[in-house]
Amino acid sequence: MTRTHAYVITEPYRGNIQGFDVLDLSSEDVLVKVQACGVCTTDRRLFAGKLKVAYPVIGGHEVSGEVVRVGRDVKNVAPGMRVALDTIFRCGSCYYCRKGLDHLCLYSRKGAKIGDAVLIAGGFSEYITVKQAQVFSMADTVDFVEAAMSEPFACCLHSFQKAHLSSGDSVLIIGAGTMGLLHAITAQLNGVASLISDSDAARRDFANQLGYRTVEPSMVIEAKQRNNEGLGFDAVFITAPVLSLINDSLSLVRKGGAIVIYTSLHPSGNVVFDANQMHYTEVVITGTEGRTKEDFRKATALISNASVDLKPLVTKHIRLGDLSEELSNVPSGNSQRTIITF
Ligand SMILES: [Zn+2]
Ligand SMILES: [Zn+2]
Repeated sequence: MTRTHAYVITEPYRGNIQGFDVLDLSSEDVLVKVQACGVCTTDRRLFAGKLKVAYPVIGGHEVSGEVVRVGRDVKNVAPGMRVALDTIFRCGSCYYCRKGLDHLCLYSRKGAKIGDAVLIAGGFSEYITVKQAQVFSMADTVDFVEAAMSEPFACCLHSFQKAHLSSGDSVLIIGAGTMGLLHAITAQLNGVASLISDSDAARRDFANQLGYRTVEPSMVIEAKQRNNEGLGFDAVFITAPVLSLINDSLSLVRKGGAIVIYTSLHPSGNVVFDANQMHYTEVVITGTEGRTKEDFRKATALISNASVDLKPLVTKHIRLGDLSEELSNVPSGNSQRTIITF
């Protein structure tokens, strides 16, 4: 019997490390020794009690590691493999999974548990059990820390597609946090010019040092004039959780362009817009939720092929025992992704 130690959020603002027995593997299960796990905004919201979930809960959904054991029907995955984990469960047979929209699977949040702790998704643990379909192999040249960035990168690849852009287009990305930067990286891969708006000067500097163009929010209207003959950006991606940004973006996007609401809002709110403005401009406002398994495959391939370098986005390494302190912080300035290594 394998024993694992996991960081459990027992109630809002409280957590500790607890030991659990890892259950026997079923025929399609894969047991992974976690080597790195990112700390995401979702985890900070779990810690702060902002999400409607039952406690105790184990967070961590940006996971990489090494396969240690596989169930008897597992193919293509073997012990010793270096992998990134798509921690969302996709049933494969519901309406959405069959329609190729597996990121909207009806059974994706089915409340898996270890002991009495709910897993969302359980990466803050020395070991994690997943289904073979959730396991993506990585090149041996990729370190575990960068491999753990596969999940947020896959979500940004998914988001980017929602805007139906072509090379030569230009986009505004609101927010220079890790998700904003991952959108800028995705834009560059696609031959799309990006401009990142953020009020935090240190965040803009960080993005500039990586080679991305930034702007203060007060200068965005002026920047718009330099795109598409002054008609506006082809798309705006909102990665900062501020409701009013959705309406503000309507004046920044060209006719037929897209506004993609990447961030969720806690609390949420209503947006009021002029129906005729939507009718006459054909602007599309859309959300983006997670990633498909194809987005995940693409993210792991781009990282494995060194087509992208996500290492600079990881600015802090911590241990599992440091999580209570880390989850109480909101990253700003030069801090981007924090990753736990084991
Ligand atoms: Zn995340
Ligand atoms: Zn499904």
